[in-house]
Amino acid sequence: MSLTDGGTGYGPYLLTAADRQRRDHEPADSVAVFVVAGHPERGGRLGVITMEIEIATIGGYEEVGRQMTAVRAGDDVVVFDMGLNLSKVLIHDNVETERMHSLDLIDMGAIPDDRVMSDLEGDVKAIVPTHGHLDHIGAISKLAHRYDAPVVATPFTIELVKQQIQGEEKFGVQNDLIKMEAGETMSIGDRNELEFVNVTHSIIDAINPVLHTPEGAIVYGLDKRMDHTPVIGDPIDMERFREIGREDNGVLCYIEDCTNAGKKGRTPSESVARRHLKDVMYSMEEYDGGIVATTFSSHIARVKSLVEFADDIGRKPVLLGRSMEKYSGTAERLDFVEFPEDLGMYGHRKSVDRTFKRVMNEGKENFLPIVTGHQGEPRAMLTRMGRGETPYELDNGDKVIFSARVIPEPTNEGQRYQSEKLLGMQGARIYDDIHVSGHLNQEGHYEMLDALQPQNVIPAHQDMSGYADYVNLAENKGYALGRDLHVTRNGNMIQLVE
Ligand SMILES: [Zn+2]
Repeated sequence: MSLTDGGTGYGPYLLTAADRQRRDHEPADSVAVFVVAGHPERGGRLGVITMEIEIATIGGYEEVGRQMTAVRAGDDVVVFDMGLNLSKVLIHDNVETERMHSLDLIDMGAIPDDRVMSDLEGDVKAIVPTHGHLDHIGAISKLAHRYDAPVVATPFTIELVKQQIQGEEKFGVQNDLIKMEAGETMSIGDRNELEFVNVTHSIIDAINPVLHTPEGAIVYGLDKRMDHTPVIGDPIDMERFREIGREDNGVLCYIEDCTNAGKKGRTPSESVARRHLKDVMYSMEEYDGGIVATTFSSHIARVKSLVEFADDIGRKPVLLGRSMEKYSGTAERLDFVEFPEDLGMYGHRKSVDRTFKRVMNEGKENFLPIVTGHQGEPRAMLTRMGRGETPYELDNGDKVIFSARVIPEPTNEGQRYQSEKLLGMQGARIYDDIHVSGHLNQEGHYEMLDALQPQNVIPAHQDMSGYADYVNLAENKGYALGRDLHVTRNGNMIQLVE
């Protein structure tokens, strides 16, 4: 059933559901299938076709959030990420996803619509979240139980998945949880192998999974920056990516996160954010009023820097807010970070308020609360402080450090604006954007394409307008839209080898 014209045609061949039904006598469905030819000069196998390779782009191809991609190699299917689109949840007041059914969450656009999986003719052998951010693991508790397959991830990610599953109230998720470290591999069926390559991102223990097939490697490249001097963990393993690019069958397909593809130059290292933060915090050493800091709770490297510099300027750091306690507590328990022994972490409302009272009694100038609320989330600690709902009283001139960037999304932008205004009304001075992104800028994207030399590229982790910059960049490298550069949407299939 060859639809490519002998290897010289450059697709895309869009098969409608009706075409497929005529062709395969299958029941009609609404799945679009692209059969593609790949790049004519970038190696790959010539001659005998040994294994069908198909990619289902399930979630995160029309938005940032609810990432999910399935790769079928012969009879084996591997699922990469099962994420949540948190903004689709937060926009509704008081939605508690713990009790919600998958189909309702799919209808809300909050989790991936995995019903397309029934079109993949193979068995799911592994569910592989790349790192612990919610847009990559947040739907596991709602979807994983439908597959008879283990969840395979790095130790920190597995621990966060475990906590997600424990918090789930609707479904009993009993998939095995298998820990695999960066640099390790596991067999997928008889002929494929899964490998984890270490990458650097805004959360610890992130990897890019690679599925080695007889037709070449599929590299799932979501969420990384090229950090050679990270504050925690090893630098990105570019040497391994280059090796994979040089292997006999090469890279059949690279799926890439194009979040920052419109940004020139290179994403700075976490050590640059650390220096920036140090400069800001050391400048406050003489201030004898209140200083409060906020950052992504899951950004353990940043929390570590905040804790250390608080100590350096003679203040006792204390972590406040449910997710601060959750992520930092988990990282410390798993020995990813060493905090001072007496570092307080409090999540429950009562213990947080008790701590604030203690801070007020003993003097704000002796403490540095590190709190949740960097995006102005209505129920987070900093927002509550802004509304005057905590015992902590802000005074004129007190300093609030946002070691985070506003996620460019209208809900976040609105909430953050409101939070800053509320804090400002109480006299707080804002320090913002003390941050570096966790995603590749243009030069990082070029470097990855040079290292991997992929035959096909699929941009992901954006909506259509967000793909434009990456398409330009990849076309500069000789890729052509519709030939070996495949822009797609949620719910489609791309057939790489048929
Ligand atoms: Zn991420």
